Amino acid sequence: MTEPLTDLNRLCIHTITTKPWSLAEAIDGYTRAGVPGVTVWRQWLEPLGVDESARRLRDSGLEVVSVCRGGFFPAETAAGRQEALDDNRRAVDEAEAIGAPLIVLVCGAVPGIPLDEARRQIADGIAAVAPYAAEAGVKLSIEPLHPMFADDRSAVNTLKQANDIVDALAMPNVGVTVDVYHVWWDSELEEQIQRAGKTVFSFHVCDWRTPTRDLLNDRALMGDGCIDIRQIRAWVEATGFHGFNEVEIFSNEHWASDQTEFVERIKDAYLAHV
Ligand code: ZN
Repeated sequence: MTEPLTDLNRLCIHTITTKPWSLAEAIDGYTRAGVPGVTVWRQWLEPLGVDESARRLRDSGLEVVSVCRGGFFPAETAAGRQEALDDNRRAVDEAEAIGAPLIVLVCGAVPGIPLDEARRQIADGIAAVAPYAAEAGVKLSIEPLHPMFADDRSAVNTLKQANDIVDALAMPNVGVTVDVYHVWWDSELEEQIQRAGKTVFSFHVCDWRTPTRDLLNDRALMGDGCIDIRQIRAWVEATGFHGFNEVEIFSNEHWASDQTEFVERIKDAYLAHV
């Protein structure tokens, strides 16, 4: 069994986890709490602009782990698919500007487009953007989403499907993100993490609350749900992954709480359950 974590050296928090905080407040709150890593959601760059956001992140000493999110490649029309490519290239520019080595892809889905066709469009979209990202020194990471999101968020719902795309593209800057919330139920998880090997680019943690009261915004703090997070971390680390453990919690309940106290609870839960 994997040992518990004994320090916060690899703790990263997503800005969406502390949604009520602006980027400036998150930078301040995380640094005061001794959280070393941040994953920046693109909406957080808008109020200050990319350049000022980049400057503040640089000055903070926080390590920018990734940008969330690119993707949403499938569309009914060629114009729609082109728009998606343009937006993904903008995400690459933003990642480069703020010093993020990785963009997480929520790959997209459109009700009415068959899932296999959507996956084909996703693979084409990633293939089109990856060379541009490589030039900027940015990696692209496919995050499979729980099948409950197969209608309009992602047609990539298992790590196997993500690995299949990574293998087919065989581009060195394209890999996968393992988010325990989306893949914990999968009986092939250990095998598919092993298969991904060095292409496991990032690792997201939270927990699955029972009952789940909202399909999107009711993720639990680690330890408040039924996921064996430490087991999944062990599988991920067996591939050689020693990057950040990223806390990504969408939660109406936690967003309504005091965010400074919430960050302290995250630190405790991280040491106890990740
Ligand atoms: Zn995630």
